[in-house]
Amino acid sequence: MQLSEVRINLCPPGAGRLKAFCSLTFDNTFVIRDVKLIEGNDGLFLAMPSRKLCDRCKRCSEKNHLRAKFCNNCGSRLDENRYLRLQPPQGGRVKLHADIAHPIHPECRTDIERQVLRAFEMEFEKSKLPGYVPQRLDHDLHDFEYDLQTEHPAMKLRPTGQEIRH
Ligand SMILES: [Zn+2]
Repeated sequence: MQLSEVRINLCPPGAGRLKAFCSLTFDNTFVIRDVKLIEGNDGLFLAMPSRKLCDRCKRCSEKNHLRAKFCNNCGSRLDENRYLRLQPPQGGRVKLHADIAHPIHPECRTDIERQVLRAFEMEFEKSKLPGYVPQRLDHDLHDFEYDLQTEHPAMKLRPTGQEIRH
């Protein structure tokens, strides 16, 4: 599987460690969005899209993020340090997030990271030029556009088949 396109959307300089949002297309057919380029202590690294790990409220069984202070559903006070009790027996850090999509082999990760970093540097150089237009991260070929001129916008969904320009 080859990385066929990398789109980079640079974060403003004030965004702290988050440097860019990226979308990665493989074999011109499959896209992974919401990949983040983050400045770590040892340089830039890629964070794959992830979800927060959850547990269930003892009172109402609603799922809440492991560090939530209150239940989203019933509002019960939750112990925000309860995740520490989930320490894996073999030691190591407690996981609060799980990657949704990620490379399995370190070589693959390194390869993707190298290509994204190259694209990031190119995009960063381009961003210094006058008239720079940030890249769209949205790859949908059949964007649906609401026609706000009509009385019932929901009834007037129409495929544009092209990028919507504002
Ligand atoms: Zn609850």
